[in-house]
Amino acid sequence: MRQRLSSEPDRYRGRRRVPTPPRSRYAAVVTSAFVGAGVVALGAGALPDAKSVSPSVLDELKQASITSQDVADRAASVDKPSRSNARDSQAKRDEVWLLPLQGYDFKSPYGMRWGKLHTGIDLVAPEGTPYVAVHDGTVTKAGWFGGYGYAVIVKHADGSEIIYGHSSEVSVHEGQQVKAGDQLGLVGNTGHSYGSHLHLEVHVDGQPIDPVPWLDVRGVNIQLQIDTFYSEVAAS
Ligand SMILES: [Zn+2]
Repeated sequence: MRQRLSSEPDRYRGRRRVPTPPRSRYAAVVTSAFVGAGVVALGAGALPDAKSVSPSVLDELKQASITSQDVADRAASVDKPSRSNARDSQAKRDEVWLLPLQGYDFKSPYGMRWGKLHTGIDLVAPEGTPYVAVHDGTVTKAGWFGGYGYAVIVKHADGSEIIYGHSSEVSVHEGQQVKAGDQLGLVGNTGHSYGSHLHLEVHVDGQPIDPVPWLDVRGVNIQLQIDTFYSEVAAS
């Protein structure tokens, strides 16, 4: 046993045998107190009984403070946009989908109506109510659009399009880039419309689809909004 130990390289034996100085209980308590209080600047004068604390403990404290500050800085920088995570920011934007209106009456679903296909959903709201972009995209139409009246069409990065119809007025122009939540226009009763409402129509590959399940997959629950609306009405 002794023979084997003596044959080990000195460096190895040295590392193994030099005891790590035990971190004193005092240092641990004071360190956590400083970190907990969020103190950044650390001087000997700030310490209680500074004279009785050995320089090595002070160094250890400073190091602990610097390290914890580094960690705090790094944590804070995670949410800040920068060139390096621009792609991550764009990925987050791609996930932002919003309701076009707050507070509406879901009047007419997608499907057959009066012998023909109703190609969108009708969200009834008072004339002049602002409506917003459901998702980031490019405005490809902003103005009179036949039966849709004053309408806005926004094309998204994935190629899908949303038509917002029957506006009393539009607030954007063709070619404009919009973000989810940007105001596009005001609810109205223009074109082939039976009363003030927003006609919301989704096109995928150029064809209209039922917006309700399509939006639901993207976290926009039209049904939830209806339930909320009616429960508020019932409670009032
Ligand atoms: Zn409609």
